[in-house]
Amino acid sequence: MERSDKRKQTLALFADAIAPGPYECMLCEEETVIGEDGLCDACREKLLYLPNPVCQQPLDGLTVGLRYSDELASAVMRFKKNEQTEYAGFFTQFLSVPDEWHADILVPIPMHPVKKRLRGFNHSALLCAYLSHATGIPYSTELLYKVKLTNEQKKLDAAERRRNIKNSFAASDLVKGLRIVLVDDVFTTGATVYECAKTLKRSGAEKVYLAAVTAPDR
Ligand SMILES: [Zn+2]
Repeated sequence: MERSDKRKQTLALFADAIAPGPYECMLCEEETVIGEDGLCDACREKLLYLPNPVCQQPLDGLTVGLRYSDELASAVMRFKKNEQTEYAGFFTQFLSVPDEWHADILVPIPMHPVKKRLRGFNHSALLCAYLSHATGIPYSTELLYKVKLTNEQKKLDAAERRRNIKNSFAASDLVKGLRIVLVDDVFTTGATVYECAKTLKRSGAEKVYLAAVTAPDR
């Protein structure tokens, strides 16, 4: 499916989600005239779409919507830390699942139950729910688990991230033979995603992909 078709689909979904703040731009937060994509003209013009980054095994493919920016970083923060869940619909319009992936199921990056209790929700699971609604691909939060409580990845360098996250996930045997799409907001070093993919493949998943909203240009 073309990116523009996909966006039309998710925009319809997003239109319901944007209330009660329909006049505030989702990125700059200015009260102004905004489009059905949730953006003012200035922010829309500044958006940069990224070519999909090259990925390595055990990940079989990767799509990224937007180039990471300060405005997007703030929006991601409002979504995750302030629990402004209306951002799920907004971000979903920038996620894509290519037809050639023949995806069986969408799976969120799991949170440890303790972290989830602290935050109140798993942002990745919410993105999955919206993306599932938009694409018709089912999603499940019962296939991959975070079993080890780890330090926050954000403050660590690439090697530390890999060490920190190693062996911290577990997968259900039900993933056997499935083509799975992991869904997340930001793709940075990929340490978490690669560890998830490794865990899923070890339990027999046939393919593991990632759909991410944004990534820094590299
Ligand atoms: Zn704006």
